[in-house]
Amino acid sequence: MSTFQAPKGTYDLLPPESAAFLAVRDALAAPLRTSGYGYIETPGFENVELFARGVGESTDIVTKEMYAFETKGGDRIALRPEGTAGTLRATLEANLHRQGNLPVKLWYSGSYYRYEAPQKGRYRHFSQIGAEAIGTEDPALDAELILLADRAYRSLGLRGFRILLNSLGDQECRPLYREALQTFLRGLDLDEETLRRAEINPLRVLDDKRADVRRQLTGAPLLQDYLCAACKTYHEEVRALLTAEDVAFEDDPKLVRGLDYYTRTTFEFVHDGLGAQSAVGGGGRYDGLSEMIGGPSLPSVGWALGVDRTVLALEAEGITLDLPPATSVFAVPLGDEARRVLFTKVNELRRAGVAADFSYGGKGLKGAMKNAHRSGARYALVAGERDLVEGVVQLKDMESGEQTAVALDRITAEVTSRL
Ligand code: ATP
Ligand code: MG
Repeated sequence: MSTFQAPKGTYDLLPPESAAFLAVRDALAAPLRTSGYGYIETPGFENVELFARGVGESTDIVTKEMYAFETKGGDRIALRPEGTAGTLRATLEANLHRQGNLPVKLWYSGSYYRYEAPQKGRYRHFSQIGAEAIGTEDPALDAELILLADRAYRSLGLRGFRILLNSLGDQECRPLYREALQTFLRGLDLDEETLRRAEINPLRVLDDKRADVRRQLTGAPLLQDYLCAACKTYHEEVRALLTAEDVAFEDDPKLVRGLDYYTRTTFEFVHDGLGAQSAVGGGGRYDGLSEMIGGPSLPSVGWALGVDRTVLALEAEGITLDLPPATSVFAVPLGDEARRVLFTKVNELRRAGVAADFSYGGKGLKGAMKNAHRSGARYALVAGERDLVEGVVQLKDMESGEQTAVALDRITAEVTSRL
């Protein structure tokens, strides 16, 4: 034990469990990589204003959850709480949207930081896989992203999730709804802060998780009754495309999301085995964001999937991923000559694609075999002086204990044929 512990709300990913985490991250990204999305990496921190403007001044993320600070040079910086604003900032800065190929389709993977009350599935440092399709308004693009996330979750074996879908309208119809909702909210018994929020961004009140607030929201006007014709048609098309692909979704007229910049399509993937932290991923259309951060009009759509919560969802469904073994062959040399020979053989096996490890530190047979067992290897390669004189190595099956002498120059062939 050292004097230090991981900061509150964070946890360390350690082997062997970290292998599953890595596999989840890969699986969530895999469908994107074969669907025209290019990989983007942006800094872990940005100018705090980017988030204030991009995520929204009235959101919990900006008002309560951001790690913001001033640098020694006087810059106002925030650790990124989400990936969309930085991705769009980078796109605009590099003029990716002017290279004639819209939409600009990007995916990313990384760490995000929010100063939240830590609980299971809610951390101050967490991982997301994100995807953004920038610069095109097309319901097929919204549908594509929902399909890709659905496929990603399914590829992991997850079945206990649901897709919630809604439309948030656009600059034409949302103001009318906003006013109607505001009038409704003013008549409720709400605390000061919530009333203030109702004045700044009433839609956010619909996202309130407190039971007494939720109860009062039962009769709230619904956006679907206020959608303009263009938004309605757009939304119907997204729904039809999903239905044609056999993807089940639930219309959730109260679904709004924590970020201000969403317009039209909005969706969330929720898992029923996760308790209060049920959202494993979410996203939607953000047609106004580019202009909010000083860019041209670039209607866009994207999502972010939570890696940590997806791992928890697997646990909740009792799914163990079928991962390749960390070590298939463990070499146990007895003596200096054997050490040199087996070291070469281990490298040969690795070049042939076999996961192989070696007993370091000049251990005796007993200690080295203990390491071999702990490594989870299927086979041990044991060699002592007498074996080398005969030009062989003992290939030991760690499950059956059965041992076979294999000629030195046949080892890689023998091992690969058995694995
Ligand atoms: P919630 O309503 O649970 O706070 P959110 O709407 O703030 O979620 P998004 O900003 O949409 O979440 O982020 C996308 C995904 O990232 C979420 O669906 C969730 O899986 C994950 N996520 C968000 N915040 C956290 C966190 N603090 N810890 C772990 N995962 C998180
Ligand atoms: Mg949140």
